[in-house]
Amino acid sequence: MSLSIESLSVPALDLKAQYQTIRDEIERAVRDVIESQYFILGPEVAALEAEVARYCEAEHGIGCASGSDALLLPLMALEVGPGDEVVTTPYSFFATAGAIWRTGAKPVFVDIDPETFNIDPALIEAAITPRTKAIIPVHLYGQTADMDPINAIAKKHGLAVIEDAAQAIGASYKGRRTGGLGTAAAFSFYPSKNLGGFGDAGLVTTDDPELAKRVARLRVHGMEPKYHHHEVGFNSRLDALQAAVLRVKLRHLDAWTEGRRTVAERYQNLFEGQASTREVVLPTESTDRFHVYNQFVIRVPSAIRDSLREQLAARRIGTEIYYPVPLHLQTCFASLGHTPGDFPHSEAAANETLALPMYPELAEEAQRHVVESIGQIFEERAKTSKKGSGRAA
Ligand SMILES: *Cc1c(COP(=O)(O)O)cnc(C)c1O
Repeated sequence: MSLSIESLSVPALDLKAQYQTIRDEIERAVRDVIESQYFILGPEVAALEAEVARYCEAEHGIGCASGSDALLLPLMALEVGPGDEVVTTPYSFFATAGAIWRTGAKPVFVDIDPETFNIDPALIEAAITPRTKAIIPVHLYGQTADMDPINAIAKKHGLAVIEDAAQAIGASYKGRRTGGLGTAAAFSFYPSKNLGGFGDAGLVTTDDPELAKRVARLRVHGMEPKYHHHEVGFNSRLDALQAAVLRVKLRHLDAWTEGRRTVAERYQNLFEGQASTREVVLPTESTDRFHVYNQFVIRVPSAIRDSLREQLAARRIGTEIYYPVPLHLQTCFASLGHTPGDFPHSEAAANETLALPMYPELAEEAQRHVVESIGQIFEERAKTSKKGSGRAA
């Protein structure tokens, strides 16, 4: 018997659906760690580091406490600090700019390409000054930034490139995976990411052995050997329990990525077959990239985005806004002196984007319900505005 549409609730993310499929493997892996009583770093973490590095086609992997730390640690290892500048996008999760700020350096924002939501390489060069030390492109929603021109600019100016790959493990650019596309890369294993732990965790990849060593040392208070401190790092150790969970999940990652891509394709087909949602702009996948759809993000006119979200919530359809306030307009960065209008594409995206339910197990029936509901809401709105009643949709 199929569920009646009225009773169908579609969450933005359903982690329980995935857990059901791997419960036994996870329980075994967690039990092994508990039996070993080895909880911090150690063999599980070393194994995860090697496996993720191999998966990302990078030489070294260094586990750490979060994706935010995975951005901060390579910046520290590259000695980015007060007086320096780091170029990045204003349309990302806060941690991208927060990591730059925490080193004492200044985030210098460059607007996005409205088609991909990623930093526009054509605008980077104008933002470079003698103080620029690095560029942090973000592979937003699971699709890589345009790395060739970014790396060419970095090479010309002697800059490091740190990929913010928090949303894009397994994504590729011209056949090469994230994690090996710059000087270093930051991954997050926050539960909602494509490879999500049972808590916070992160990892840095790099091909540079010296950088890898320094990142590994900084995550343990700059200590090497024990109780000898060469520089001041901090505690960003990774737990063995998280590593054990992540090692199990890594074995399923490619299958889950295929699941996400199937869900994305179904959304595309469902929207294309429905006239009432002509105004909805669907995400695109560049031909030279492999998109891993951490999110499926549509654009709708800003005048209806928030009301659409509320009406979907009333129908028990979960959505999210990634991200409602671009980074240059965050209160904590007021001293940078930015005003609305500085980065128009990022500001438009912040007002127009809506992330629809997305996870590998999402069923076609649920997706049909989401797309038809959006269609009905658009139809209602068209009727109301035709009547000229002035009532809000
Ligand atoms: C999730 C995320 C981070 C931070 O990762 P945490 O593990 O939450 O610290 C950084 N950048 C982007 C783009 C993210 O999506």
